[in-house]
Amino acid sequence: MKCPSCKDVELVEVLTTKGVMVDVCPQCNGVWLDKGELEKVQIYKEKSEELAEKEYARFSKIATQAKLDFENQREKAIQDIKVSRFEVINKLMREISRRLD
Ligand SMILES: [Zn+2]
Repeated sequence: MKCPSCKDVELVEVLTTKGVMVDVCPQCNGVWLDKGELEKVQIYKEKSEELAEKEYARFSKIATQAKLDFENQREKAIQDIKVSRFEVINKLMREISRRLD
C-alpha cells in the first residue's frame, strides 16, 4: 500500500507492542491504520486508563495504610516511653519509702 499523503512511497507494516498492525510511511512518518485497527487502539487506550486508575487506587490504599501503621507505631512508642517512665518513678518511690521505713 502506498502512503495516501506522499503518493508513491510504499508503506511499511509495523506491529506495535500493543499488538496492533499499523502502516508507517518512511518518508513523512505518517501512521496509517486499517479498518478496525483504530478500534483496537481505542480499546487498548481505555484498558490502559482503567488499569492506571486501578493501580492508582491500589497505591493510595497502600500509602494510606503505611501512614496509619506509622502513626500507630509512633503512638505505641510514646505509650511505651510513658509506661517505662512510670515504672522508673514507681521503683524510685518504692525505694524511697523502703529507706524511710
Ligand atoms: Zn508519507
